[in-house]
Amino acid sequence: MLMSKNKEFVKFEKVDKSYDGKILVVKDLNLDISEGEFITMLGPSGSGKTTCLMMLAGFETPTNGEIYLDKNPISNIPPHKRGIGMVFQNYALFPHMTVYENLAFPLRVRKMPKDEADKKIDKALSMVSLSGFENRMPGQLSGGQQQRVAVARALVFDPSVVLMDEPLGALDKNLRESMQYEIKHIHESIGVTVVYVTHDQGEALTMSNRIAVFNDGKVQQLSSPDQLYERPVNSFVAEFIGENNTFAGEISDISSDKCKVKVNGGEIIANPISVKSKGEKTTVSIRPERALINPKGGMDNNHKGKIEEVIYHGDHTRVRLSLLGNSDFILKVPNSSENLDIKLGNTINIGWNSQDARALDPK
Ligand code: ADP
Ligand code: MG
Repeated sequence: MLMSKNKEFVKFEKVDKSYDGKILVVKDLNLDISEGEFITMLGPSGSGKTTCLMMLAGFETPTNGEIYLDKNPISNIPPHKRGIGMVFQNYALFPHMTVYENLAFPLRVRKMPKDEADKKIDKALSMVSLSGFENRMPGQLSGGQQQRVAVARALVFDPSVVLMDEPLGALDKNLRESMQYEIKHIHESIGVTVVYVTHDQGEALTMSNRIAVFNDGKVQQLSSPDQLYERPVNSFVAEFIGENNTFAGEISDISSDKCKVKVNGGEIIANPISVKSKGEKTTVSIRPERALINPKGGMDNNHKGKIEEVIYHGDHTRVRLSLLGNSDFILKVPNSSENLDIKLGNTINIGWNSQDARALDPK
């Protein structure tokens, strides 16, 4: 039977949080998370991400608003009765317990009979590819293996939701990347709802169905990874996700789908996202890969750029240009192409579509 998924499996409704009764560190959070979704809270340090997880887990209480789990308000349910698993960067394994005992712990708290618990532990360890490690002590495992045990321990009691707060933060780059895929695959195979927290935009883009970008206690944008990257709704998101070329300017003309922006060195035709009228200040954002060298035509922005720097990156070359008064305009050029005039000091033709030049709020 096909079951329709609950679109409001986790619901934050008008949630505010203040620790000191004065400053709100989470402001009017409204967020619906679907059953089985992998959602990431992404933002700089101090933006309120951990506070949101702590409220969902039950270790902090919202100052205003309510959180619902499967339609039920959870304010009055203690943490261990919420059916939520957790993996935190600093939420270490119990060092004096074996891997088996670490995994048995949440089951014992839930008073599960031993034979049933053993089956769950087997299953959870095999999920993180650690079958046979039952009798190891945490100190006898690598950092990556310890985090995999932590993931297994969070999943072993079949929670309806798993919270992960920077779980890979302590691992080196390669291990972090392989663990990202591992966690993503576990999520895909068991379909548990995951609420993940990171300040690493690459990690968020790789793993998530949707991403909520936090800044200063507010969700700035809630979108799929591709929408977030392609269609940032404000300068903060454009800046925080991926690279972008920016121009400060003023709107000199505007219609519903195009605007003219007067910048230092000339004029840009742009896509009016957060601007409405003539005279408004704006920051125009253009992704490096949207600006092309010697465009074949059909682009409504065409400018001359002088090559200031060329850096070889293996699969692509990064080119820094001065263009329209911006001496930090970055292009990413694939290393297979016939772009032979990319030489320091050369002046080249650069074009982009106005739809890819997003006129956002001024920085
Ligand atoms: P993030 O996880 O995005 O880095 P946090 O949720 O940890 O952000 O913190 C948000 C804000 O709340 C920060 O200004 C932080 O200093 C403050 N804060 C976090 N935890 C506490 C606490 N237990 N008591 C007082 N202030 C706190
Ligand atoms: Mg945090």
